[in-house]
Amino acid sequence: MSARTATLTTAKRSVRGQVSAEEWRIRVDLAACYRLIAHYRWDDLVFTHISARVPGEERAFLLNPYGMMFQEITASSLVKVDFDGNVLIASEYGINLAGYTIHSAVQMARPDVACVIHLHSRDGAAVSAQKDGLLPLTQNAMIARAFLAYHDYEGIALDLGERERLVEDLGDKCLMMLRNHGTLACGPSVAEAFARMFTLERACEMQVAALAGGRELTMPSEEVQELVARQVQRNSDADRPGELAWPALLRMLDRQDPSYKD
Ligand SMILES: [Zn+2]
Repeated sequence: MSARTATLTTAKRSVRGQVSAEEWRIRVDLAACYRLIAHYRWDDLVFTHISARVPGEERAFLLNPYGMMFQEITASSLVKVDFDGNVLIASEYGINLAGYTIHSAVQMARPDVACVIHLHSRDGAAVSAQKDGLLPLTQNAMIARAFLAYHDYEGIALDLGERERLVEDLGDKCLMMLRNHGTLACGPSVAEAFARMFTLERACEMQVAALAGGRELTMPSEEVQELVARQVQRNSDADRPGELAWPALLRMLDRQDPSYKD
């Protein structure tokens, strides 16, 4: 842990006593998710955002304090806002308005969603700019494509009017390429949203590497692509890969720096 992280995390007051046990649990998971995105180097300075719905409160969600690096975010530092953008628990940090637009749109339209992740990773943004989008070049890509939607770029997401078009494009999918911009994943828990984003981001990395490899590529048949789509859609409710991997991911964070739980 760096000295800077230590100063920030110990200087912050814990909000644990001000929130429900359920809210505290989701705060810890969400802070862990920010640390994991930083660990895999998919962050973009203090920009981009991950949100989680506050359990038991229909119109409230948590966002990153705008100005903190993902690797220094803690459970207590997350900013609680409502669907109108009002800050519900006072914070010295504000929120990213484009983040509010994107996350309030998905959180309002999709009651099945507990967590939304939006990134500007290098390879996610690179594939978002490729006309053919995510190609079925790898198993990761074929899995991601079964849940993948696309949304055209409209400028920095400050126009609340974009919310309608964004959720219309997302439909009932859980992954989206924001063209010329980045990636988005959502899920019924922080763990599932993270696992889905991991599949998409890895698929984008593999595509960029394969296209840069300078050798002729082999594309799986349409038949096998459709088979994979059926296999993952059939298993998506029963299989919770995120829940399986999440405790191990938290153990990894605990070995590195457990201050996300502060
Ligand atoms: Zn963005």
